[in-house]
Parts: sequence; C-alpha cells; structure tokens
Amino acid sequence: MPFSIFKLHPSILANVEALGYKEPTPIQAQAISVVAKGRDVLGIAKTGSGKTASFVLPILNQILKASTVERDRKVKVLILVPTRELAVQIEGVCKQLSSNLPRTIKSMAVYGGVSINPQMKALYGVDILIATPGRLLELKRSNAIELWKVETLVLDEADKMLNMGFKEEMEEIFGFLPDQRQNLLFSATLSDKLDGIQRVLLQDPVLIKVEDKIEDASLINLSGYFVASDRKGPLLRYLIRSQNMKQVLVFTSSGFSADKVADKLYKNGIEAKSIHGKKSQFAREKALSDFKSGVLNVLVSTDLISRGIDINELPFVINYELPRSPKDFVHRVGRTGRAESEGQAITFVTRDETHHFKVILKKMKRYIDMVDSDTMKF
Ligand code: ADP
Ligand code: MG
Repeated sequence: MPFSIFKLHPSILANVEALGYKEPTPIQAQAISVVAKGRDVLGIAKTGSGKTASFVLPILNQILKASTVERDRKVKVLILVPTRELAVQIEGVCKQLSSNLPRTIKSMAVYGGVSINPQMKALYGVDILIATPGRLLELKRSNAIELWKVETLVLDEADKMLNMGFKEEMEEIFGFLPDQRQNLLFSATLSDKLDGIQRVLLQDPVLIKVEDKIEDASLINLSGYFVASDRKGPLLRYLIRSQNMKQVLVFTSSGFSADKVADKLYKNGIEAKSIHGKKSQFAREKALSDFKSGVLNVLVSTDLISRGIDINELPFVINYELPRSPKDFVHRVGRTGRAESEGQAITFVTRDETHHFKVILKKMKRYIDMVDSDTMKF
C-alpha cells in the first residue's frame, strides 16, 4: 500500500518520497490514521520499525491544517525522549519531513550537556519541541517556554525513560500540561513500569502492537565462545583482526566496562570508541557519526544508549558481556542481519554464565554450538 492512502498534504508526501520510503512500515500503516484522528495511542514495535515517522507525519499534517499561525513560546507539540542522541535524531526526521512546506514548521531539539542560553533564544516560535526531561524542566523554570498549550504529547522510548529514572521529572512535566490533549506513547517493549505511566497518561488509547517476534532473529548468524573473563580482550582483538571486521558494535553491561574495552582496543591499534550515558554530548555524537560513516571501526556501547538509535544492518555485533534479559539480547543482535544483508552476532560467555545463556537461547528457540576458546591461541 502506498503512502498516498493517508490524506497527508502533497508536500509532506513529496518529502516522504524524497526520503526513499516506498511504503509504510507495519506500525506506520496502523498508527498514522489513528494519530491523525486525534486518538491517544500506545504504539509498540521494535527498534528500527519506523516508529518516528508514524507520529511525525500525522503531527506535521495537523500543524499544516491549523488555521492560525502563532509565533510565541507556547509549545504545541512536545516529544519527550530519554537521550540527547534520540532528540537529535528525531529533530532530523522532523526537519526532513517538513522541508518545503507551504508554511514553515519549526522543530527543535533541546537536551542537557550543552549550554542553555542558545536554546532559550532559539526556542521562540517553535512548533515541535523534542526534549529530554531534565533540560525541558530547566527551560520551563526559566520561562523560556510555556507548556499549557500543548496539544500533542509524545513519549518516545517510554520504557527507556522510565528505566533511566526519569519518572519524577516526567510527572512534574505532565503537571504543566493542559488536561485536554492527545497523548502518544511509543516504545519497543511493554513493561510493568510502562503500565503505570500508561494508565496515568492515556485516555481510551488505541493499542497498536506490532509483534516483536523473537523468531525474527532467525536469520541472524549466531555464534558463541566460552571465554574466561581475562581472555575476553585478546579474543575480541583476535576476532576483529582475523575476520577483518570494519564495522562492529560491541556491547558491554556498563559504561565503565565500555570505556575499558574501547581503551584497550585503541592501545592495540584498533580504531575504537565507547559511548554511554556519562560521556559528553560532543563525544557521543562524534563517536556515533564516525561509526556510521565508517571512520570508526569499533563502537563499544551499553544497552541503554543504543536503544532507539538508528544503527542497524551492521555486519557484526559482539556481546562482550551478556545482557540480563533475553529481550535486550534480541535487541542487540537485531542490529545485524536484516533479510537481505546477513550479519553475524557473536557472544562471549564465561563458564558460570552457561545456564543464563541457555535460557536466552531457549527463549529465542535457537541452538548454537559453542566454541571453546581455551584451546585457541591468540
Ligand atoms: P524506530 O523508532 O522504530 O526505532 P525509526 O523511526 O528510527 O525506527 O526508523 C528506523 C529506520 O527506518 C530509519 O532509518 C528510517 O529512515 C527508516 N524508515 C522509516 N520508515 C520507513 C519506510 N516507510 N520505508 C523505508 N524506511 C523507513
Ligand atoms: Mg524510535
């Protein structure tokens, strides 16, 4: 089905085409018309399934249709996100989809870790504000924005926001919003935590759930190595070198460990950087863009930071440390091996994690022959 079945403004459709989107993804196919009707939506679909456009397109259309154009500091559309990267990414999508429209729609991302004054100045006349909770509250406290005219609230990666401890900030923000508004909540997973927020927030929502089939990972080439903790670094270097890996995403379970792994690779002459919540905004953006463009061969990341970031179809993903939940495992390995481009996901397992790894594989209905690295020379 073509995008033209949605009654979107022709110039928005032209932008969709310019982006190379041929047809809506399943979440887009279901969400766009429901959002356009003004209904509250709970949208669940895995990372990479095109959730952003499923709310950005109807929102842009709605703004275009509005008869009055007000230029002030009263935000009409507020998109809350957990990380700065995601804010920047969504701002990019908004800008692409709103270029050359009959009237200018101003979208802007605000986030912490950079100075607040330029953001305060630039906020004037904003239509769509994409914000991390902390910085939004700072801007509100300094009267750089008003929130009582918000017509549509989007929570993107809502589960991550809750996991990152933004609950109180989010509630404070909700308190500034008018009661009458549209609420859209998008997430890759449904969790118990989400349940609480969804009941507070959503009014008679339409639930749109695109099944996150664990079997979707069936195309991915999985392999695993038994390896002692102190041999993980050498094994990683051995694999990168022997398989001539030019683009590999390495997952660790903490930022501390991500730093250590990246440092060690770098000292051994492999272009690697880490990315996690404690890094500066600049360092994170630089690492990400270098990795995407291929300048950086290895990006070492935690689960938290990688969620929602658009880096898929990678040739290699390595689980340097196992995630706790099978869901996170699926999200990690899902970064590689889409239908057309086969990818490899390699997992390091210490002996005492054997059982845990078996549980993960069982959930995925997969079996792999483990390689014992003790006997390997590297
Ligand atoms: P999610 O938020 O679900 O993780 P994104 O909105 O970030 O997914 O989209 C993932 C990728 O898919 C992006 O690169 C985006 O440009 C692309 N994409 C989105 N919608 C379509 C579509 N209809 N056709 C082709 N590519 C699309
Ligand atoms: Mg997203």
